[in-house]
Amino acid sequence: MATIFTRIANGEIPSYKVAEDADFYAFLDINPLAKGHTLVIPKHVEDDYIFHLDEQTYAGLWAFARKVAVALKAAVPCQRVGVCVLGMEVPHTHIHLVPLQSEKDLNFANPRAVVTPEENARIAASILKEYENL
Ligand code: 5GP
Repeated sequence: MATIFTRIANGEIPSYKVAEDADFYAFLDINPLAKGHTLVIPKHVEDDYIFHLDEQTYAGLWAFARKVAVALKAAVPCQRVGVCVLGMEVPHTHIHLVPLQSEKDLNFANPRAVVTPEENARIAASILKEYENL
């Protein structure tokens, strides 16, 4: 059965898309640590552990994540874009990209940011615009 993230990448489940190419997809986390918190996934490989990916998918995922992080930093004011790989909840490899003001912001025990649908739509559109201009 397809994972929830495959269904998101296929458009069967709605998401706030921030970037996409033939093999990879990036979208806003539904329960963000900060406004603009983004998840980056491979579209055609569902392995749930990033270090099990074949080398080509692994390298491609990080190269795509780098571009998304550049677009994210341009669109969302922050000191840095933090990177984290957990995979404790959703069994489909994904990289977290989190806009940070300080290192304390990359703590998954923190309360989550409250973001309206309108704000998410605006943030996602801004990141996508930056991504498409890279
Ligand atoms: P992890 O597997 O890395 O521990 O956490 C999974 C992440 O995916 C969490 O930050 C969670 O908020 C996010 N997430 C889980 N289900 C969905 C979903 O259906 N849509 C979106 N956009 N994010 C999700």
